[in-house]
Amino acid sequence: MADIINLLPDNLANQIAAGEVIQRPASAVKELLENAVDAGATEIQLFIKDAGKELVQVIDNGSGMSDTDARMCFERHATSKIRSIDDLFHIRTMGFRGEALASIAAVSQVELKTRRDGDELGSFIEIDNSVIKKQEPCQTALGTSIAMKNLFFNVPARRNFLKSNAAEMRHIVDEFIRVALAFPHLQFSLNSNGQQMFHLEKGSLKQRVVNILGQHYNSKLVTVKETTDYMNIHGFVGKPETSKKTRGDQFFFVNNRFIKSSYLNHAVMNAFSEMIPTDSYPLYVLFIDLDPAHVDINVHPTKQEIKFDDERILYAFVQSAIKHALAQFSVTPALDFDLDPGIQQLDALTQPFTEQKKNQSANTSIYKTFTHANQAHVIDKSSNSNLLHWKELYGEPSRPDNDNVPPETPLSTASLIDERWQEAATDHKVPVQVHQQFILSQIKSGFILIDQRAAHERILYERYQKALAEKPMATQQSLFPQTLELLPADALIISEMLPDLQALGYDLEPFGQHTFVVRGTPADIQTGNEQASIEGLLEQFKHYSNELKLNRRERLVRSIARNNAIPPGKVLGTREMQNIIDELFACSTPNVSPGGRFTFISFKLNDLEKMFERGM
Ligand code: ADP
Ligand code: MG
Repeated sequence: MADIINLLPDNLANQIAAGEVIQRPASAVKELLENAVDAGATEIQLFIKDAGKELVQVIDNGSGMSDTDARMCFERHATSKIRSIDDLFHIRTMGFRGEALASIAAVSQVELKTRRDGDELGSFIEIDNSVIKKQEPCQTALGTSIAMKNLFFNVPARRNFLKSNAAEMRHIVDEFIRVALAFPHLQFSLNSNGQQMFHLEKGSLKQRVVNILGQHYNSKLVTVKETTDYMNIHGFVGKPETSKKTRGDQFFFVNNRFIKSSYLNHAVMNAFSEMIPTDSYPLYVLFIDLDPAHVDINVHPTKQEIKFDDERILYAFVQSAIKHALAQFSVTPALDFDLDPGIQQLDALTQPFTEQKKNQSANTSIYKTFTHANQAHVIDKSSNSNLLHWKELYGEPSRPDNDNVPPETPLSTASLIDERWQEAATDHKVPVQVHQQFILSQIKSGFILIDQRAAHERILYERYQKALAEKPMATQQSLFPQTLELLPADALIISEMLPDLQALGYDLEPFGQHTFVVRGTPADIQTGNEQASIEGLLEQFKHYSNELKLNRRERLVRSIARNNAIPPGKVLGTREMQNIIDELFACSTPNVSPGGRFTFISFKLNDLEKMFERGM
C-alpha cells in the first residue's frame, strides 16, 4: 500500500496558521497598531477602506527597519522581541511571537515602506500570498508604513465569512480604542474611507478616556489608584449615575494589554453593588500592573484571556480598590466647603482627609494582606483627631450639649477656620429619622442621609477592633447564666474564638462537649437573649466565611458588628441619632460600612438647587 502522509506546501501551512492570528480586518488592526507601539512610535495613523476589506494601513514614526529586517519580519517566528525562553517571562512588549506579519502576508497583499533614523534611503517591499514580489530602496519618512490590501483575496471561503461593513468596522474601532486607551501618551488617528473618525492628541489617561468615550464623562470619573508591593491598579470608574443599560465602556488592561475577564468584571460589579441597579453597567477603564512572572502570557494572544498565579488575590484587590475609590468620591461633597482656596490648603483641613484616605485603604482587611510594608504608617489607632474635625465640618464646635449655645459664643480655639465653621454651626438642626431606616442630618453644604444600620455597624466594628487591639470591652454579667447547646461544628467555631469573644465582652465558658455557659454579654448591647445573640453571631460568621481573604478575627468582628447593629425599623430618639452621628464621624473610616457599603450619602445644596432649576 502506498504511503499517505504529505507535507503541506509552505503557503498552505502559512494560510492555515494565519487563520488563528488574522480572523478579520480588526485582527490586523490590532497587530499593526501594536507593532507601531512596540517600535517606539509617538504618532500612529490608521487608514481603513471598505471596513478593512480593501485596506488596513498603519503609518508610524517609530524605529523603522533595516533592509534585511524588512524582509525578515514576514518570516514566521521572526521577532526582535524575544531571544530566549527566559525573555518570555519578562515580556513588556505587545508582540513577541513573530507571527503577525507572517500571517498577514499569507492572506493578503502587503506593501511595506520603512526607514530608520540615519538611513538615507528606506526599503520598499511588496508581498503577495507570502511571496516577495518586489524589494527596492525608496524615499520614505522615518518610521514604518504597512498596508494590508484585499484581505483573504486568496482564501475566498474566509472572505465570505466576513460580516457586513458595519460589523467589521465596529470591530476595528473596538481594537483601535483598546490600543489608544492603553497608550494615552501617544497620538493616534483613525481615518475611514477618507474621513477622520478619531484624532487623539497625546495627553493624560483622563483626557484620552473622555476624548474617546465622550465629554459627558469629564466630571463623572472617579480616580482609582492603589499601589502595593505585589501589584498596582490605576484608572477610572464612572460615577454610579453614569452607569448604562448596556455593557460597553468597560476596559481592563493587564500590563497594558487589553483583556476580557468576566471574573474581574465581577469584582468591579461587586464593588458597585447597591449603588447601581442590577441591570446596569458602570464605565471602567482599569490598568493592573504586576510582575509579568505572575501572568501566564502563553495563552493565545488574540484570545484576550489571561491566566494569573492567584486570581483570588486579584479579585479582592480590584474590588477593594474600587470600593475605596467610590468611598472617597462619596465623602468629597460633604467636605466641600465654601472656603478660600488658600484656607483649603491648610494642614488642619487637609490632615483629616488624608489620614482618612490612608485609613480607608488600610482598613480593608484584604488590602492589608498585600501591604505589610505599608501598613505601619497607615493605621493611626491612637488618634481621635477625626472626631474634632468632623464636628467642625459639621459646623458644630461640640455636641450634643451645644444645642442651646448661641452662635456668637467663641470657640475654644480661635482661628480663621474655626470662625468659618462657627458660622456653619448656626445651620445646625436636629436630625430626623426617615422611615425608621435613615437619619437625615443637615450640614453646612446641604444634608446627609445616614443609613442607621450601616453607620452603627461601622461604629461597632471600630469599637470591637479597638477592644481586640487594646482594651477588652466591658461585660454585662447576666443575672441568670444560660447554657447554650450548639451543633458540633458551631461549638468548634466558638471554642476557637473564645479568647477573642471574651475580649469583646462575651463571658463564655465551655461546659461539656458542645455546650457553653453564657455568663455575660458586651455591656453596650441590650440583647436580653444571650442565646439568640450568639446564634445570630454564628450565622453571620458563617455567612462571612465565603469572603475572600478575611481572617478569622476580621470575620468575627464583622459578624458581631453586623449582628449587634441597630436594624432598620428601630425607632431612634434624637439623642440616639446624635450619638450615632457623633460616633460615626469619630470613626477612622466613617463613610463606609465594614463591608464597603456607604454609611451615608451627601446631598449638596448646589445640586439641590439645580434639581429645582433655581437660578436657571
Ligand atoms: P512580533 O511583534 O510578535 O515580534 P510581528 O510579526 O508582529 O511579530 O513583527 C515581527 C518583527 O517585525 C517585530 O519583532 C519587529 O522587529 C518588526 N516590526 C514589525 N512592525 C514594525 C514596525 N511598525 N516598526 C518597526 N519594526 C517592526
Ligand atoms: Mg507584533
